[in-house]
Amino acid sequence: MVEPFLFIAPARLPDRRDFTEPVTDGDTLWLQLDRHDRAKQDVSLRLEGVHAPDREDGPTRDGARAWVQSWVVTHGGVTKWPFLVQTIRIRDESHEIMTLGRYLARVWCRECGAVLNDQAEAWYRMMGWPVGR
Ligand SMILES: [Zn+2]
Repeated sequence: MVEPFLFIAPARLPDRRDFTEPVTDGDTLWLQLDRHDRAKQDVSLRLEGVHAPDREDGPTRDGARAWVQSWVVTHGGVTKWPFLVQTIRIRDESHEIMTLGRYLARVWCRECGAVLNDQAEAWYRMMGWPVGR
């Protein structure tokens, strides 16, 4: 039995001592989530609905990663938990208590409501970058 697992949590960039580079690529990044029922948790998030250039695409892949880095800095602001993350995890019985799993997620700015997923995807399409998987 596989079911989607959803929650929404405040989030911020991970501690820089642990993560010098929290943005993996144009559709994957690490954020720290404040889940009320657990300790604060660093999780890898795959941005739902975003198709960034793949590894082999070189410069465009770097460009997409830089774009996401810019977004999290721009919207990171001064509040302690500047983002909201909605995660969608496919959970099965054997992985129910997985603590560092990769989640499909939507990320948005609490201050202005900008949605990272929508803006990233729109930017990549506008640039005409090759679509990854
Ligand atoms: Zn914002």
